[in-house]
Amino acid sequence: MTYEIAVLKGDGIGPEVMAEALKVLKALGTPTLTFAEYPCGAGCYLDRGDPLPAATVEGCRRADAVLLGAMGLPHVRWPDGTEMRPQVDLRFQLDLYAGVRPIYLYAAAHTPLKGLAAGDIDFVILRENVEGLFASMNGGIQLRGEVAVDSMVITRSGTERVVRYAFELARQRGRTPMKVTCVDKANVFRSMAFFRRVYDEVAADYPDVERDYAYIDALSMYLVQQPAGYDVLVAENMYGDIISDLAAGLVGGLGLAPSGDIGEDAAVFQPSHGTAPDIAGQGKANPVAMILSAALMLRWLGQQHGDSAATSGAERIEEAVRTAIGAQGVGTPDLGGTLSCRALGERIVRAL
Ligand code: ATP
Repeated sequence: MTYEIAVLKGDGIGPEVMAEALKVLKALGTPTLTFAEYPCGAGCYLDRGDPLPAATVEGCRRADAVLLGAMGLPHVRWPDGTEMRPQVDLRFQLDLYAGVRPIYLYAAAHTPLKGLAAGDIDFVILRENVEGLFASMNGGIQLRGEVAVDSMVITRSGTERVVRYAFELARQRGRTPMKVTCVDKANVFRSMAFFRRVYDEVAADYPDVERDYAYIDALSMYLVQQPAGYDVLVAENMYGDIISDLAAGLVGGLGLAPSGDIGEDAAVFQPSHGTAPDIAGQGKANPVAMILSAALMLRWLGQQHGDSAATSGAERIEEAVRTAIGAQGVGTPDLGGTLSCRALGERIVRAL
């Protein structure tokens, strides 16, 4: 099969890591991919006055999947002082409700925790992507310089679909036992008690999958103490955002953490990290999160289209990453290595 991929390189290290991901995808051979590049990001705002042009959104809608680098620059802001986040706007416009963040330990040397081997950390965070505390984005209230309010918005339909996605994902992973952890603060907030109630209603349809509950504060400790105990975790938008970075830190940092933002008929795959302006243009960026996001894209295309070539392409990329960065001290500076972004990309291509 042939797929058209919309490519949004973005700002900062976005174009650097994207170049390596495209090399890896081209080296795969199958499935056949065609790439269409669209402008987007803070640089695009400086050029054209719009960080997310309508033609870019249209191109993303038409494509079979979207690959995105990273967007936003600290010195490019809206008149109200907030940073541009076109990647988040795109989630809302394409209704990409499921934020899928796999957390996997590729090498013992990558984790700050002791006594763990490669593969010992292996779970997926499912972040609700279009409501929760982010529903207020660009819409909070500020009153007379004295009070500011952002609201937590939890809907039945929004919660149902992301929780269902979590249970389906647990079945696909097929671990023993299959488990979905509901991450909330149901002991304090009505919105969160409602989130948990909807979780329970959906869970009733999946008697083969274990139910599990954790308050967000306690979970932050459990994830550090016993990360091997998790399979799939589902959380409101902001909580999902925060634990994604915490979890990335357990397996080597943002440079190794891929993500997919998935809706009913569109999906965007991007590294969990931002534009890292502190290292942009220096060849120091780790391209692995971007490359693993490309693998996640192939896995999703494989599922959507029943295409085993795409699924095995994803597995080949993951295997190549394992080979390329499995040894202690090999990788970019964030992994304690000395390789440049390009050299690590080429090492992964060779491992393929
Ligand atoms: P955002 O708010 O968009 O997530 P941020 O500024 O909070 O962005 P990042 O841009 O992800 O966060 O950067 C956080 C830190 O992680 C920086 O020190 C950055 O250099 C580092 N970092 C992020 N991505 C990578 C990468 N791919 N390789 C190496 N270091 C990275």
